[in-house]
Amino acid sequence: MGLTTDPNNPDLKRYTGPEEPAPQNKVYLVLSDEELAKGFVRPVRTAYVHKKCGSLTTMGQKLSETYARDPKFYGATYCCACSAHFPVSEFLWDGTDQEVGS
Ligand SMILES: [Zn+2]
Repeated sequence: MGLTTDPNNPDLKRYTGPEEPAPQNKVYLVLSDEELAKGFVRPVRTAYVHKKCGSLTTMGQKLSETYARDPKFYGATYCCACSAHFPVSEFLWDGTDQEVGS
């Protein structure tokens, strides 16, 4: 899995609705270091739980920081147990009752 700060990267995939199980996308969009340096509006959290299956998925630092800088940056995220992306509102930050994306 790779990361890019270029919204026009041709390997980026947009979530368009329910998916068949598949590996994670080749590339995910993250905010630039310059944007991240403007400060976080949420704690940097690195793991979330899918409400439906109860499984924990962890993320890398840049993805976690992107959520912390801009909680609504992503519309959907990946569940490792279900092997698919789902709307962020279907996940809770690990150890909290706060929905991802809120
Ligand atoms: Zn799941």
